[in-house]
Amino acid sequence: MYQKVDTNLNFVDREKAIEKFWEEKDIFRKSMENRKEAKTYTFYDGPPTANGKPHIGHVLTRVIKDMIPRYRTMKGYMVPRKAGWDTHGLPVELEVEKLLGLDGKEQIEEYGLDPFIQKCKESVWKYKGMWEDFSGTVGFWADMDDPYVTYHDDFIESEWWALKQIWDKGLLYKGFKIVPYCPRCGTPLSSHEVAQGYKAVKERSAVVRFKVVGEDAYFLAWTTTPWTLPSNVALCMNPEETYVKVKAADGYTYYLAQALLDKVLGSLGKEEEGVKVYEILETYVGKDLEYKEYEPLFACAGEAAEKQHKKGFYVTCDGYVTMSDGTGIVHIAPAFGEDDAQVGRKYDLPFVQFVDGKGEMTEETAYAGKFVKDADKDILVDLEKEGKLFDAPKFEHDYPFCWRCDTPLIYYARESWFIKMTAVKEDLIRNNNTINWIPESIGKGRFGDWLENIQDWGISRNRYWGTPLNVWECEDCGHMEAIGSREELEKLSGNPAAQTVELHRPYIDEITCNCPKCGKTMKRVPEVIDCWFDSGAMPFAQHHYPFENKELFEAQFPAQFISEAVDQTRGWF
Ligand SMILES: [Zn+2]
Ligand SMILES: [Zn+2]
Repeated sequence: MYQKVDTNLNFVDREKAIEKFWEEKDIFRKSMENRKEAKTYTFYDGPPTANGKPHIGHVLTRVIKDMIPRYRTMKGYMVPRKAGWDTHGLPVELEVEKLLGLDGKEQIEEYGLDPFIQKCKESVWKYKGMWEDFSGTVGFWADMDDPYVTYHDDFIESEWWALKQIWDKGLLYKGFKIVPYCPRCGTPLSSHEVAQGYKAVKERSAVVRFKVVGEDAYFLAWTTTPWTLPSNVALCMNPEETYVKVKAADGYTYYLAQALLDKVLGSLGKEEEGVKVYEILETYVGKDLEYKEYEPLFACAGEAAEKQHKKGFYVTCDGYVTMSDGTGIVHIAPAFGEDDAQVGRKYDLPFVQFVDGKGEMTEETAYAGKFVKDADKDILVDLEKEGKLFDAPKFEHDYPFCWRCDTPLIYYARESWFIKMTAVKEDLIRNNNTINWIPESIGKGRFGDWLENIQDWGISRNRYWGTPLNVWECEDCGHMEAIGSREELEKLSGNPAAQTVELHRPYIDEITCNCPKCGKTMKRVPEVIDCWFDSGAMPFAQHHYPFENKELFEAQFPAQFISEAVDQTRGWF
C-alpha cells in the first residue's frame, strides 16, 4: 500500500498535526492501558540532565531510544516508560556558583550550605520546559508527568540500600586517589584548571640503580620527579616486552628493556671506538621477572613499609609501561601518580607519602621542610654519593602550574572511596558475553576491553550537591557503619528526625549516631558520591525499591534473574 506524497506537502504541518492527534487522543497512555495484562518489556533509558539545553545529539539519541519501546509496544508488549531526570553533580554547583558570584568551596561554605543546596535544586529545572517541548516534537514517548528525580529522598534511600549491599560484601572501601594538587592553595584542581597552566620547563631527571637482592646486579629506572624517589615502593615492567640482563662498560650488571639498551647505555661509549658498551647475559619477558626483589632505595621507605606490615620493593607488571622513554622499568610511588596508585592497589603495596599538604618533604626523610622541587637537587647529590645515580639527564617537558598562583602542581594522593569493581570483573565479563551487542565489535571490542582493564571505581566527591555517602564514622575509635535506610539510621541514632530529614547535606549531617563499639559520637563522612551512581541506580531507585513497589520491580526484573545474580556474588568474601 503506497501513497504518492503530494509535492506541496508541508512536513512541519503534518508533524504538528500528528503530534496534536497523539496528544488529544492520549495515545501514549492508551498504548499502555490497552496492554496492561500483556507481557512486560523493560527498556532502561538513562536520565538526561535538565540544567543544560537539549542539543542535536539528544535529538538523535531520543529518536533511537524511542524506536525500541515503540516497536515492542506495536508487537503487543506492555512497555513502562517512566521519564527521569539526572539532577546532582558538579555542573549544577558550578552554574549556581556563577549565578551567585561565588568562587570555590571556601566561598560556598561562607555563603551557607543550606541556601546553596536550595539554589542547586532550583537550577536543576532551568531547561525542563525546553526538554519537554523538544521530546514531544521528535515524538519521544515517556511519562513526563510522573518522572523519577535523582535528588528525591526516596531515590537516595534506594541508593543507600544498594551501597549498603556493596558495603556488606566488603566491596566499598576507603583508599587513595591521585589528584593534581596546588600545594600553595592547598586544593586539588579540576582537569579544566590544570589545562590552563602548562609551561615548558627544563629540569634534571634521574636514572637510578636499584640493587637486586642476592645478586650483584641493578635494575635501572628513570624518573622525571626525583622528589618521589624516597617514597618508592616498587618497580614496574611491561609483562610482554623483552628485558635483558647486561654487563655494561661501567663495570655494573643491569636489568633494563632491550628496546632501550642503546639509548640508555649509549652514554658509556661508542662501539666504533673499540669500547664494548654492553654484553647481553640473559633475555627475559617482563613477566619472568615479576616479584623479583630489590633493596629499598631509601631506608625510610623500608621502615614505613614494615610499619604497615606490607611487602614492597619488588618488580610488578603492568601494560601501561611503554618502550618510548626511560629504561622500560618504571619507578612506582603510589602516592604520586594514578598509574602508580593502580599498581599499588593491584599488588597491595605499602603506601608511602613523604610529602605533606604544603608540598614539603616530611621529617621521615633527610629533606624535611624542603619544597619538593627544591629537594630534587639534594636527592640527586645523595644518590650520586651512594653510587645509586646512573645519570641525571636534563629533560624538557610541559609541566602544569597553578593558574591562580603559578606554583608548580604536584600529583598527590587524597583519601577517596572506591567500589571494588576488580573483585567482580569475571562476573562482568561473563554477563557481557551474554549480551546481544549490535554491532558485535562494540561489546567484544570497546566495552569488552574496558571490562578487561576494569579499575576500582572512585565514587566519592568532596562536594555538596550529590547523594551523601551513607557511611558514619566514630570520631574516637574510627569504627564505621554503612546505613541502608531511614529506619536503620533512626535505630543507630535514636533520633526520630531520621524518618523525615532531607537526605542532603547539610541536613543529613545533623544526624549523629552512637558508636556501638565505644559509645562515642559517629558522624557521617563528608563526601557525596559520583552522580553516575545515581543514573546507574535508576532501574531500582525509580521504584524506591526495596522499600516500595517490590512486586512491581521484581515482575519487571524476574525473580530467578535476581537470585541468579545473588548466587553469583556468593563466595566473594
Ligand atoms: Zn595555587
Ligand atoms: Zn567508636
